Amino acid sequence: MINSLRGFRDILPPESDLFARIEAAAREVFGLYGYRELRVPTLEKKELFVKSTGDTTDIVEKEMYAFTDGGGREIANRPEGTPGVVRAYIEHNLGQTGRNAKFFYIGSMFRAERPQAGRYREFTQIGAEYIGNPSPAADAESISMLVRLLEKAGVEGCSVEINSLGCSECRRSYREILLAFLRQRSETLCEPCRARIERNPLRALDCKTDGPRLAAEAPKLALCPACAEHFSDTQRLLAAAGVGYKVNTSLVRGLDYYTRTVFEVRTTALGSQDAVAAGGRYDDLVKSMGGPAAPAIGWAMGVDRVAMLLAGKPAPDNSPRTFVVAAAKEAGDKAFELMTALRAAGISSDFSNFTLSLKSQMRSADKSGASCALIIGEEEFKTNACSVKHLKEQGEQKTVPLPDAPSYIKKLLEG
Ligand code: ATP
Ligand code: MG
Repeated sequence: MINSLRGFRDILPPESDLFARIEAAAREVFGLYGYRELRVPTLEKKELFVKSTGDTTDIVEKEMYAFTDGGGREIANRPEGTPGVVRAYIEHNLGQTGRNAKFFYIGSMFRAERPQAGRYREFTQIGAEYIGNPSPAADAESISMLVRLLEKAGVEGCSVEINSLGCSECRRSYREILLAFLRQRSETLCEPCRARIERNPLRALDCKTDGPRLAAEAPKLALCPACAEHFSDTQRLLAAAGVGYKVNTSLVRGLDYYTRTVFEVRTTALGSQDAVAAGGRYDDLVKSMGGPAAPAIGWAMGVDRVAMLLAGKPAPDNSPRTFVVAAAKEAGDKAFELMTALRAAGISSDFSNFTLSLKSQMRSADKSGASCALIIGEEEFKTNACSVKHLKEQGEQKTVPLPDAPSYIKKLLEG
């Protein structure tokens, strides 16, 4: 018996129904905002993530599934979606199509972290990227789209926190101030932070162990006038879009490429795995990866965690509407045709095994959750008909000619 790998899981019904519902809500909302789907590979050159996400980030330094393939190539399973989208944008000149470069993706991400509830080694993200628009309206649109998506999916009780990390200029001066602060406290830092503060001081503020404490005490980043204006414009537009949010000046996010607006959506319902979605602006990334100067903003949402939030909420019933039962072989062929006709008419239908006894088939019909059983017994077989038996409520059993069955059932179910 071979089991699945630790941290990798099967998503079974009804949880898989939740995934599908979330994805359907996402596709609908993306359509309203002019986002189109980009399907990028799950494997990329390792250096793509090292260069974009950053070599001092947790997901690249500690959590990446990277390996050398048979041809000696350094490969990695994508730990996040943005680098692949940016690579595709550059590789296919997607800024030159004359249409907005607004893209969404839905797919697996891989991170070798300690598995626990809401934290897996393969998990699903839905993400959105808008490349090429520097204006605060793009920030406000991106964040409000995320909030609408969560609402559409049926998620309640989330809070949005935002902050601005400034541009590279604001960051350059802050880096020195923060570094001085961290050096003073170097012996109180965890091992990995001590090792990386010189290379990336901001990362210490996002550290899972020391981050909250340091962020509370550390000097705050001062925004240049242009960044301050961008941040206040973003907030004005968010308010205009009816999005509730809180400014959290300690929010820094763990990735290297963020500039200006960063944000996180949290819930109180998931214990320590409380981050539902997160994102931010990355004005310098496309250029630094060899593309044109193209400011951008995006986010990623954890579908596994959203599914946890929706579990236990009333879900649409996706049991078959009809269950077909037949007495032995010849009737079985008619029953099979009947199911074909029902489905062609848009009525879901299921069966068990026509060679079993009628009684046993009826037991399966009862368990299936179907509204009615369509029975082709010996009598019905002779007259080319089926009997319609209500399974969920009282109702008269009726015999209907087989050719009329789909339209009769349709009326019955709608009525
Ligand atoms: P966390 O703080 O929980 O580790 P993160 O900051 O690493 O989250 P991001 O890189 O921002 O997460 O990814 C966006 C979203 O993807 C998260 O808000 C979360 O919902 C989801 N996510 C991240 N890592 C995992 C994981 N290992 N398993 C399931 N979902 C995850
Ligand atoms: Mg993480």
